[in-house]
Amino acid sequence: MSYSFVESDELKLLRETVANFAEKEIKPIAQQLDKQEKFSHHLTEQMGNLGLFGTIVSQDFGGQGMDYLSYAVAVEELAKIDSSQAATIAAHNSLGAGPIFYYGSQEQKDKFLPNLCTGRGLWGFGLTEPNAGSDAQATQTTAKYVGDSWVLNGQKIWITNSATDMTKGLTIQAVTGRLKDGRPELTCFLVPYNTPGLNCRPMSDKMMWRASNTGEVFLDDVKVPDHLILGRKGQGFKIMMETLDNGRISIAAMGLGLAKGALNLSLNYAKERKSFGVPLIKHQAIAFKLADMATRIEAAENLLYKCCWAKQKKLAFAKLACMAKLYCSEVAEFCSREGQQIFGGYGLMKEYPIERFYRDAALLRIGEGTSEIQRLVISRYLN
Ligand SMILES: Cc1cc2nc3c(=O)[nH]c(=O)nc-3n(C[C@H](O)[C@H](O)[C@H](O)COP(=O)(O)OP(=O)(O)OC[C@H]3O[C@@H](n4cnc5c(N)ncnc54)[C@H](O)[C@@H]3O)c2cc1C
Repeated sequence: MSYSFVESDELKLLRETVANFAEKEIKPIAQQLDKQEKFSHHLTEQMGNLGLFGTIVSQDFGGQGMDYLSYAVAVEELAKIDSSQAATIAAHNSLGAGPIFYYGSQEQKDKFLPNLCTGRGLWGFGLTEPNAGSDAQATQTTAKYVGDSWVLNGQKIWITNSATDMTKGLTIQAVTGRLKDGRPELTCFLVPYNTPGLNCRPMSDKMMWRASNTGEVFLDDVKVPDHLILGRKGQGFKIMMETLDNGRISIAAMGLGLAKGALNLSLNYAKERKSFGVPLIKHQAIAFKLADMATRIEAAENLLYKCCWAKQKKLAFAKLACMAKLYCSEVAEFCSREGQQIFGGYGLMKEYPIERFYRDAALLRIGEGTSEIQRLVISRYLN
């Protein structure tokens, strides 16, 4: 038997532990953090104490050595309550610590990873630029070898976890030359936060993920030694794209969790709120909405968990990761919109968490490759 739909006792325990934490510690302050657009150090440290940092990093470097299904379930349980906290964890593990663990030298892993597995250190993933989003090869940040080190110049935008006083560094993709066919040669650099010339500024006025830190990154003659190249020179784009394959699993988990959270809120409301003398759920139009939400959630869950299973078995999983990211984000949007409809006018008020869920769902179809880009990649697998 190689395929199982039964959760192990270990996985159930993890799910329960993260769910209890989210309910007890995050839920009471999620609305307020969203309103104030405030990143919470306290919650970040607490999530670290719970073992949610360095989830997929092996124990040799201070990580938890979790499998991908466990990691996805942990992210899902956070997103059921608050996407911002789930985003801090998903970005840090998949995009921050992940590439260092998978591609770093022994020296780089020993130097950076232990600190990134505690909840007291964050690491950002600097791919997107003002003029290079979906077209990630259009990077304009440059790295030139001068004297005895690389000198980086350029700008990155919308980098999660990049502008907090817990941030320890960033992985930066930069152009290090030209390939024979004229395309840029791209290389990843590990840039510690205290490197002179590196400046990160928090970005504000976001519609969603308002308690997650998003920053603008400026690189002004930033000197990085050769030994802080991640992987090899010229391997940058491959590293970034493979990192996104993994990252899409955690964005899918955020979508699944958000959808489940929206269903929970809507179901409770539909049982309590009465119209025409009966609870809303007794109206078939409302009951059918809930049925559609539950059905799509079931399909999304199966797709995501199958993807985690493929990743864990070292089978090809990139197409499944795109599908899971695309589908789970669309289910999240569907469930939060239908949920809002069930709440009627109250669903449009900030006092009710379903309004936040509706806003938070929007990023899922943009981050780590937009829905259009997922469809583009999936369609290429079909040819
Ligand atoms: C809150 C937040 C956090 C983020 N965190 C990070 C992070 O940690 N690290 C990081 O590097 N980036 C991060 N991003 C950036 C994110 O990954 C990009 O916004 C995303 O990849 C899209 O790029 P863009 O915004 O430049 O849109 P564009 O690339 O300009 O796209 C605009 C529109 O055109 C469509 N489009 C573009 N090209 C095609 C095509 N070939 N075919 C069809 N449609 C196309 C897109 O789908 C989209 O609808 C974050 C963004 C946000 C908002």
